[in-house]
Amino acid sequence: MAKKYPFKSEKKSATWDDVEVLVVGAGTMGSSIAQAYAQNGLNVGLLDISDDILQKGFDTIHAELDSARGRIFSPEQIDDIKSRILGTTSYPEACKGKNLRLVIETATENIEVKKKIFKELDRLCRPGVVLATNSSSLDTNVLAGATKRPDKVVWMHFFYLPHKNRAGEYAGTDTASAESIAVAAKYFKLGGKVATPILSSRKGGAADVIFVSLLHEAALMVDEGYDAAAIEAAGKKAFNMPLGFLQLMDVTGIPIGLYAMESFSDSSKKEDPIYRVYGNFFSPPASYTKLMKKIEKAQDKTSVTWLDPSDLRAKPKSDKLVTRLSERFMAVGFVTAVEVVDSEVISMDDVDRLAENAFLWREGPFTIMNKLGIKKVMKIVRDREKLAKEKGADFPVPKLLVSQAKKDKPWPLSLSPILEAVEMDGTVARITISNPKAANALDNRVFEDLRAAFRKANRNPKVKVIIFDSAPIKTFIAGANVPNFVENMKAGRYESIRKDTAMWQDVLFHEMTGGPKPRIAIVDGLTFGGGVETALSFALDPNSVVISTERTSYTLPETRLGIYPGLRGTLTIPQVIYRRTGDPQLAVAMARYYVLAGGTATSSPRVLRHLGFADLIVPAHRRDEAAEKVAEAIIRNKGKALTQKQLEGLRIEELPTELTLEEKDEIRTMKELFLSQDLIPTLHAYGRGDREFFLVGEQKAHAQRIARRVANNSPNAVWVSDWLISKGFKGFLDGVDNDTLARRELDEYLVSTFMHPDAMVGLTSLLDRKFPEFPRSFPF
Ligand code: NAD
Repeated sequence: MAKKYPFKSEKKSATWDDVEVLVVGAGTMGSSIAQAYAQNGLNVGLLDISDDILQKGFDTIHAELDSARGRIFSPEQIDDIKSRILGTTSYPEACKGKNLRLVIETATENIEVKKKIFKELDRLCRPGVVLATNSSSLDTNVLAGATKRPDKVVWMHFFYLPHKNRAGEYAGTDTASAESIAVAAKYFKLGGKVATPILSSRKGGAADVIFVSLLHEAALMVDEGYDAAAIEAAGKKAFNMPLGFLQLMDVTGIPIGLYAMESFSDSSKKEDPIYRVYGNFFSPPASYTKLMKKIEKAQDKTSVTWLDPSDLRAKPKSDKLVTRLSERFMAVGFVTAVEVVDSEVISMDDVDRLAENAFLWREGPFTIMNKLGIKKVMKIVRDREKLAKEKGADFPVPKLLVSQAKKDKPWPLSLSPILEAVEMDGTVARITISNPKAANALDNRVFEDLRAAFRKANRNPKVKVIIFDSAPIKTFIAGANVPNFVENMKAGRYESIRKDTAMWQDVLFHEMTGGPKPRIAIVDGLTFGGGVETALSFALDPNSVVISTERTSYTLPETRLGIYPGLRGTLTIPQVIYRRTGDPQLAVAMARYYVLAGGTATSSPRVLRHLGFADLIVPAHRRDEAAEKVAEAIIRNKGKALTQKQLEGLRIEELPTELTLEEKDEIRTMKELFLSQDLIPTLHAYGRGDREFFLVGEQKAHAQRIARRVANNSPNAVWVSDWLISKGFKGFLDGVDNDTLARRELDEYLVSTFMHPDAMVGLTSLLDRKFPEFPRSFPF
């Protein structure tokens, strides 16, 4: 086969000296891991043993990217992504790159194969390069021992399929340094993963002990003759997940589960840390070994599966049986979940987070146990233990579970959506909003926990800088939690909405910003509604630096939802623009543009920076480095915020900030349009086509789109927002402070806006994924 990789592209392809991450093994996991890094802007190398295998890896990446064309990526982005992946079958070529920082080995799950690979990598890579393995169930300590850099070998465990699944687990070995573990954490984040720290170097980490126990249970049920439809329905019922366990094995690869069971039940080493706890619990069920033999013999290995198409369509015959089997799954999942906590492999909160992110369960096992009640949990566990005894199998019920059941108390879960960490010897506090399942949406819990975290950092004299960021997912913050609003409105609790909004504003403007301590906000990704206002609170704050990226977009959907931006957006947008540009007319016009035409992403990151919403635009994968550079400079500056000149002097790798002609046109046209006399009737007339623009080409089309959008949004919300922007900016120019202006807004407008019928129409349409149809009572 002719060598086609790396892909031909119009763009300049990366060279091996540009490669930062090398992936060894271009199979199911390797090709997807390489894709994940390239999608996140990193140059990545991919290595396998033959051209054919490597080509297959690239073909898979190609097909995956093509299926995302137009939907997730533009054709230009796809070209860019492709140009960032280099392929080779030569270890010396792959290892020689000057910028190589990390190798992720994800080759065949066999300790001898992996030992050889680690020896080779160790021989060829610069001494500073960290070597990670993605092994599901082998002992990473053995791999560290095969190298002369045992302090630089770590575990980075990705989940099927890595460019789609947002989870990861990482750990050191018994010899790994803290710096090497930090490299694993850093590169998980750079790959867009919400990664969980594993606290011990026990093989298998946390997720696979739980997950493989469930695959094992499914296979046992096949051994016992239960029909596939019941097994699958029971698995889905137990953990509220989209696929059953047999189907999951068919999709992710059948051999891998068996390798893990063999490794976890390996009795050849009595001191094996998993065998010591689990004994023969993980011994492969007969049906599994039989299926594996079939795979070994088959020409087309993918043709051998647990389920055939008729199984996928079949309905279980008995609900009672499904319940019984689902309790068995739960018993096994609970026992292993508690065991990994009991053995200090992972924290209890992290088990639940990991289950949600990696397995896509709606709730983690500890939350499910708390809902069931610990008595019921203990009952189903004891039932399953009895079954194990009858079969002569080990079934270790953890001491922690027994003692919790004795206490008859729920598990002490916190599951805060806010993570806190200290960096740079405790001089930097990092506060992260991390609730990937809800796209980091805002609610009372988020703000209560933000208040606590910022208060702690503000009061800690050692902390000189606070960095605020979000989980490395596509969305920075999805805005306020809309179902909560609707629930309150249906119950007539308008006063609660007002009180909550006041509390959120207080946290945003008196805890998160407004204090003397310098802060850095990293705003990377799609940002909606209250998320935009959160970012704006930092943009307005004189002691904050806002870092945005090429992925940052701001959308203010409020007027389409029948409300106005209630976290001071009507005040902060014009003030931020005025401060940056000194142009009061532009300030009011652009605020109207963004708010009244709400509901769609507007303006490029360059325009947002030009208007004062951000101080720096950096490549997304350099956002943390940029923040660290700014933090270091602040610390050198004795904890004082940097001047614009000092910030510019840092030579941070920025993306081009010069506005394009189209962007200048956008600003000019929108300024003119939103300063029209009789603004709202005029926009409606333009929107309906009753009035013609004196514009041509794209400018005319854009103005028409914007006018139409204003005309389609809630008439009440458009009117109120326009009024609040004008009145608020006038108050600001008259010298009224923002707390007073915000209080007036809240007291006079918030409740009446939420009580207006447009709010119910707009907010419920969003939940029903419908376009809102607002009743129009005025005659434009
Ligand atoms: P796979 O069989 O699809 O791919 C393995 C690749 O490694 C093959 O392309 C093979 O040619 C290559 N390889 C073998 N020896 C090599 C060598 N000396 N140098 C370079 N490449 C070599 O397997 P996979 O499912 O991608 O799993 C890979 C690793 O990831 C395993 O350690 C597995 O435990 C782990 N893992 C798998 C999953 C999953 O769901 N499949 C999930 C998490 C972790």
